Formats: sequence, structure tokens, C-alpha cells
Amino acid sequence: MDLETDQSADWRVRASCRDEDPDGLFVRGAEQRKAKLVCLACPVRTECLAEALDNRIEFGVWGGMTERERRALLRRRPDVLSWRELLDAARRDHQDEGAEEAQVG
Ligand code: SF4
Repeated sequence: MDLETDQSADWRVRASCRDEDPDGLFVRGAEQRKAKLVCLACPVRTECLAEALDNRIEFGVWGGMTERERRALLRRRPDVLSWRELLDAARRDHQDEGAEEAQVG
């Protein structure tokens, strides 16, 4: 297994919700706001959100977004073929900008 595949398969092990009650992420209404709090500091939020968007997962909170928020995002961006690639690229750009700022500053 190459590193990329290994990292892709491995993200669930690092999930902040790993030890939470899984039903807690599949709630409705106001309870979803509470469920999303678990995602705020999750180290694999990007991977989780990409998984839900790329697989059109309809229920539950994934990557800090409710199903309703994901549906709206998918409607706004029907052109995206791979959310995983898009979100990985955005993260890399953000990291590069941070490194440049650190060098300048
Ligand atoms: S982003 Fe949220 S739902 Fe996804 S793995 Fe992390 S804590 Fe769990």
C-alpha cells in the first residue's frame, strides 16, 4: 500500500469522534449544532468532509457540516469532480501561504 492510500484509509483512526456515541452525529435540528462542535478541532476534518461529499452521503454530520449544508455546497459547486483533491489542494495552498508568511515575518 502506498503512502497516499495508507493515509486515506487511516484517517478514521485519528477521528475526534472515534470514541463518541456514533448516534450523536446522526441527530436532527438543533442537536446538530452540538454535534458539529466535536468536529471543530478534529485533525481529519478535511478527509471526513471529502468522504461525505465525494460519496454523496446524505445523513449525519461529517467534517463539521450537516447534511443540509453539504447539499447546499454540492448544489453550488456541481463542477467539482473530486472534493478530496480540491480540499487537499486548498489545504496545501493554505500551508504554503503560512510558510511564506513565516519566512517574511
Ligand atoms: S470531522 Fe467530525 S464527524 Fe468527521 S471524523 Fe472528525 S469529529 Fe468525526
